[in-house]
Amino acid sequence: MHYQPDTARYQQMEYRRSGRSGLKLPAVSLGLWHNFGDSTRVDNSRELLRHAFDRGITHFDLANNYGPPPGSAEENFGRILREDFRPYRDELIISSKAGYTMWDGPYGDWGSRKYLISSLDQSLKRMGLEYVDIFYHHRPDPETPLEETMMALDQVVRQGKALYAAISNYPAELATQAIEILRQLGTPCLIHQPKYSLFERQPEEGLLEVLQREGVGCIAFSPLAGGVLTDRYLHGVPEDSRAASGSRFLNVDQLTPEKMAKVQQLNAIAQRRGQKLAQMALAWVLRQPAMTSVLIGASKTSQIDDAVEMLQQSPLSAQELQEIDALLS
Ligand code: NDP
Repeated sequence: MHYQPDTARYQQMEYRRSGRSGLKLPAVSLGLWHNFGDSTRVDNSRELLRHAFDRGITHFDLANNYGPPPGSAEENFGRILREDFRPYRDELIISSKAGYTMWDGPYGDWGSRKYLISSLDQSLKRMGLEYVDIFYHHRPDPETPLEETMMALDQVVRQGKALYAAISNYPAELATQAIEILRQLGTPCLIHQPKYSLFERQPEEGLLEVLQREGVGCIAFSPLAGGVLTDRYLHGVPEDSRAASGSRFLNVDQLTPEKMAKVQQLNAIAQRRGQKLAQMALAWVLRQPAMTSVLIGASKTSQIDDAVEMLQQSPLSAQELQEIDALLS
C-alpha cells in the first residue's frame, strides 16, 4: 500500500545539534546492521523504516558491509527508499561507511583513498542515491597515513558524494588528530560513532571530552549492547533473538550468569523508575552532554516505540546514576 507518513512525526522527537555543526539529528537514530539483509523479509525491514520515520526518526545508518551478505542492507534500503521514501529524501539523513573488509584483494579494506572512494561509489549505486548525508571512515587503519584517509573524506564531500565527513571507532588521541586534519582541509568532522553503553564505557576515558571541546557530535552505537541491556534475555534466550541467531557478535556464551545478574539488578532500577530497562539504558547514554543521538537496532516496531517513548520519561537523578555506577563497578 502507498506509504503516507504520519503528519505528527516531528512533534514527538527531540532533535539535537551535532557538535557545533548546522545539522540536527534525532535523539534516537536507527541502524541497519541487522534485520535489513537478504536473510530478513523485506516487508519487516520496510515496516521498521516506515514506523521509525512516522515517529520522527529521520536518520538511518548504514555501511557498505551490512547484510548479510555484505551490501544487501544498502540494496534493500535502496529499494524501500525508491518505493516508499522518494518524496522524503530531503527529510532524511542517510549515512554509510567504509573501513572493514568489503571485497577481496588489497583495495577492499581499511583506509586507503582507493578503497574509500570506490566503496562510496558502490554504496551510492546500491542505494540508488546521488549522495549520502554522512560518510564515515569505519575504523582506524594502522598502516595508511591518517592524512590520506582524511583527504579521501574531504574529497568525497567536495565532489558532492557526501554532505558531511565522519569517523567511527577512533580512540581519543587519533580522533583528535583526524579532527584537526579535517579542519585544516576545510571539511570539519561532523560526528564520531563510538560504541558506548552501560557495559562499554571506554569513551568516558577522554573521547567524550575531546568531542565536546572540538565541537564534534557523538552518536553511540550498540547502546543496548545488542539487546543484552533490555528485557530480551531476562527469562532465557527467545528463539527470534539476536543471541539465538548464530551471530558472531552476540551469542549465548556471552550471557554469563555474572552479566545477567547485573542485568537483573539494572532491570529492578528501571522498574522502580516506571520504565523498561531498554529505556533506562538509552536515557543513561543520552545523559552525556556530548551525546547527539543513540543509534539503536530493532527487529520489531515495538522496540522503536520503547526508544522514542523514553524521551518523554524523567531523566536519571544523580542518586540513580550513583546507584548504577556502584552496581557496575
Ligand atoms: P543495540 O545495542 O540497540 O541492539 C539492538 C538490538 O537490541 C535489537 O536488534 C533487538 O534485538 C534489541 N532491542 C532493541 N530495542 C529493544 C527493546 N526495546 N526491547 C527489547 N529488545 C530490544 O544496537 P546494535 O548493536 O543493533 O547497533 C545499532 C546500530 O549501530 C547498527 O545498526 C549500526 O548502524 C551501528 N553499529 C555501528 C558499528 C560501528 O563499528 N560503527 C558497529 C555496530 C553497530 P533482537 O534482534 O534480538 O530483537
